[in-house]
Amino acid sequence: MASPSTSNDLYDLNDLNEFPLSKELKELGLLSIFKEFKEFQELSFYPILKDLTNLASLPLFKSYREGGGFKEKEPFKESAKLSSFLSYYKEFQLILCLECSLAIKPANYKGHLEKHFRGIGSKEKKGLIEKSLSILKGLEVSSLKGSYFLILLFSKLFPFSLYPFKELGLKKESYQCSSSQECSLILGNLYSIKRHIREEHPQALNIGYRVIPYF
Ligand SMILES: [Zn+2]
Ligand SMILES: [Zn+2]
Repeated sequence: MASPSTSNDLYDLNDLNEFPLSKELKELGLLSIFKEFKEFQELSFYPILKDLTNLASLPLFKSYREGGGFKEKEPFKESAKLSSFLSYYKEFQLILCLECSLAIKPANYKGHLEKHFRGIGSKEKKGLIEKSLSILKGLEVSSLKGSYFLILLFSKLFPFSLYPFKELGLKKESYQCSSSQECSLILGNLYSIKRHIREEHPQALNIGYRVIPYF
């Protein structure tokens, strides 16, 4: 359990610059799941993060404490197929895909399943998708921002219990759009930056992005 925080062991979240936060994300391999760099910059404004001293007494992360671990395959035990590529972190209200290194949102469940069930006969696939959707819809899933908040909170309450997510892997670089003079968007994976360029700069003359190594 966390001891009362001092100004030394917590970042001052009032004047947080982007570095400490993005460093934490990098260490956990989390940058890759955010579509936009600014999404996680905004996290520093969660007021509750400013005072974690009272949170240690709340019944947070109860299942983790009582169950001894994340048990991220538990919801998929009825489906060998789903458990082969999906993990569900109940404590973080987060679903991760091992094959895509991405977080999966409810709006993408169907499309995502179809992608992974390619090559299965259409009749069998229909049944498989229905069954999978009923499992997924029973799970509480938050926005990435919400999940990240829970992860940060968890890391403060259990400082030595959090390791990089095996589903995401550790990214060695991020990508900055250079397709337009006005755009300098930074994204955590190649797939997202290519999609951004395709969607946002279809007419650009200099289509491209810069690779930004982590340091
Ligand atoms: Zn996937
Ligand atoms: Zn751009």
